[in-house]
Amino acid sequence: MTKDDLLKEFEESVRWQRRIRYHEAGHGVALYIHKFRPKMIDDDACELTGARWLNRDLRTCRARERAADLAVCCIAGIVAESKACCLSMHDLRRSTGRLDYERVETLARKTAFWLKGWEKSDAVIQAQIALWEARTLTLFDQSTVWRSVECVVAELDNDDGFLGGSNLIQAIKRGLSSAEPSSEFFDMPLVVPLS
Ligand SMILES: [Zn+2]
Repeated sequence: MTKDDLLKEFEESVRWQRRIRYHEAGHGVALYIHKFRPKMIDDDACELTGARWLNRDLRTCRARERAADLAVCCIAGIVAESKACCLSMHDLRRSTGRLDYERVETLARKTAFWLKGWEKSDAVIQAQIALWEARTLTLFDQSTVWRSVECVVAELDNDDGFLGGSNLIQAIKRGLSSAEPSSEFFDMPLVVPLS
């Protein structure tokens, strides 16, 4: 392997790490904002609190509201990754967001179960998911929310890719309460998802 190959490989692994850290930070910040307390983030996962909504029947309006909030938290990973690294959401849905989107689809189908029979169509389910995506995109366009994602990523970089417990919550809160404008990434155009 040449020096150039090694350098390329190293750059690729740094790029990958950056994608994953923004992705997991996106989940963590969205979970906190929606009052599902995130417990820890590392380079593999953000522990998904609130997962019980995946198994619960969504009989009440409140249960369906919480399921929708959880769907936004699932989508948040690829929205943060897309925004930070300028990647198309269309591609991320099938790659790093594949498991997240399996959960989103489960939540959409469980929500649709309580609709009238003729409304349980794939078109309605896809529109539901598109609405949750729009909510997530809007959330991450808030400068304090994006600042919070950046704070979490900075802490992950400082801490070898692991952040948990009160350190995680403090990093999220620090970003949310910051009066400073967000860094250059906030102005980066978000790639609009393709259908
Ligand atoms: Zn994810």
